[in-house]
Amino acid sequence: MATDTLAGPAMLGTSTKARVYKNFIDGEWVESSTGETFENRNPADTRDVVGIFQKSGKTDVDEAVEAARRAFAKWRLVPAPRRAEVVFAAAEMLIERKEQCARDMTREMGKILKETRGDVQEAIDTAYYFAGEGRRMFGPTTPSELPNKFAMAVRQPIGVCGMITPWNFPMAIPSWKLLPAIVCGNTCVIKPAQDTPLSTYNLVRVLADAGVPKGVVNIVSGFGPQVGGPLMEHPEVRAISLTGSTAVGRIVGTTAAKSFKHCSLELGGKNPMIVLDDANLDLAVEGGLWGGFGTTGQRCTATSRIIVQKGIYSEFVERYVDRAKRLKVGNGLDETTEMGPAINESQLKTDLSYVEIGSAEGAKMKCGGNRLDKGEYQYGYFMEPTVFIDVDPKMRIAQEEIFGPVVSIIPCDYLEDAIEIANGIEYGLSSALYTKDVNKAFAAMRDLHAGITYINAPTIGAEVHLPFGGVKATGNGHREGGMGAIDFYTEWKSIYVDYSDKLQKAQIDRVD
Ligand code: NAD
Repeated sequence: MATDTLAGPAMLGTSTKARVYKNFIDGEWVESSTGETFENRNPADTRDVVGIFQKSGKTDVDEAVEAARRAFAKWRLVPAPRRAEVVFAAAEMLIERKEQCARDMTREMGKILKETRGDVQEAIDTAYYFAGEGRRMFGPTTPSELPNKFAMAVRQPIGVCGMITPWNFPMAIPSWKLLPAIVCGNTCVIKPAQDTPLSTYNLVRVLADAGVPKGVVNIVSGFGPQVGGPLMEHPEVRAISLTGSTAVGRIVGTTAAKSFKHCSLELGGKNPMIVLDDANLDLAVEGGLWGGFGTTGQRCTATSRIIVQKGIYSEFVERYVDRAKRLKVGNGLDETTEMGPAINESQLKTDLSYVEIGSAEGAKMKCGGNRLDKGEYQYGYFMEPTVFIDVDPKMRIAQEEIFGPVVSIIPCDYLEDAIEIANGIEYGLSSALYTKDVNKAFAAMRDLHAGITYINAPTIGAEVHLPFGGVKATGNGHREGGMGAIDFYTEWKSIYVDYSDKLQKAQIDRVD
């Protein structure tokens, strides 16, 4: 059976007959050339098969890139405001489909409905932002150094863009890439994460329904080396954008460099939240919980380290641990659930392995640490919210990205000490400070070495019109969101118009 509609009703614990989803290449829904498929299962209830997806290979990538190459010839000439209108229409359609898309997403990746609604909303916000950008895409006009000469720089599309995305924001992150890319006049081939292809598929479906011409957006599902590999190596792909782990970022970055592709890497994080003695403690506890256990700790911006000044340390720990113990873990389709499962068995094993590592390193585990596997939990990848206290900043649990519901609380003496601890990691994505002292807040805004700093809010909660990305091992200097995306998906062309009717030579004509 094959269909290309949104998934059917997503009900708790149901196992509806799984639908088959195809690749979208050159405006057609097609099976993969390999003839193979893979199952997408609900991590909260693995009896539930969310869909059957194409296990594609190099031939499918080649076909998609060829379709995108052909489409680029026409799409680049469509005026940007017209291109943006299609994206605006997609935003309107996404609003109509928001609830269904959110339910599909909770079913395929486990995060709770409130958060998956937020994920879809982020795609809607992104669509509206870049729809407006179609009438901006500003470039400089500037005086020429010569008389009767005009100088300006315009943004031009790059060509075929390849996109490789992770599973934790399976609609929002693809929207950050696809929407600015097409408004800028590029064409795209996207490879969604193998754990969550449906949400990306739903986004591509909306774009197709909104009127994106054939070949402009193509989706090829499958696994990293088999689909992501040929995509990043393809000579016709002129830009490659990856959001994923630092390990895969290294592979993509070095491969892209060989053929001088534009390459944007958005990678891991180990994000610190500093709580000073003068902080609003209620706010800090709630922020730390949301940042630490939202999306089951599986956010690149998750608050995985909380650095607390000694004057309030004991009270913060007591209240934080008490709240963490009471978080309701379960299937995200139940509106009362506060934390869903890990994405898959392998991630759950990683999370549990860090419980052992932290204990062996001498950190004190104050709550959690166990897999939940009784009753309904037995069908999913659930674990208790886990908090380690008295963590030494050099311990592995305080240095390595776990990507699960394991939070390390680290004591500190004063702000400078806290900033040193915060910066003492290989990553630099997000950071946060809780204080009422404006002087300390501004010092931290300057000194925290990260792409994002929040004051009196946890490390999560980015808005789509600001640059998003990080420093050090979190990325390679590009930014998604807002102007950062326009910068990545365009090339500058400088244009000089000489209307003097004579040969003028810049620099050389000058007589001092
Ligand atoms: P991952 O690196 O395992 O996979 C990301 C994507 O890369 C997937 O689509 C995967 O199939 C593909 N891939 C894997 N191996 C590949 C290869 N050899 N060649 C080409 N493609 C390959 O990451 P994940 O587990 O999906 O996501 C979690 C990671 O993503 C975490 O490290 C998290 O911090 C990071 N992340 C970063 C941001 C950010 O903006 N900085 C946002 C979300 C997630």
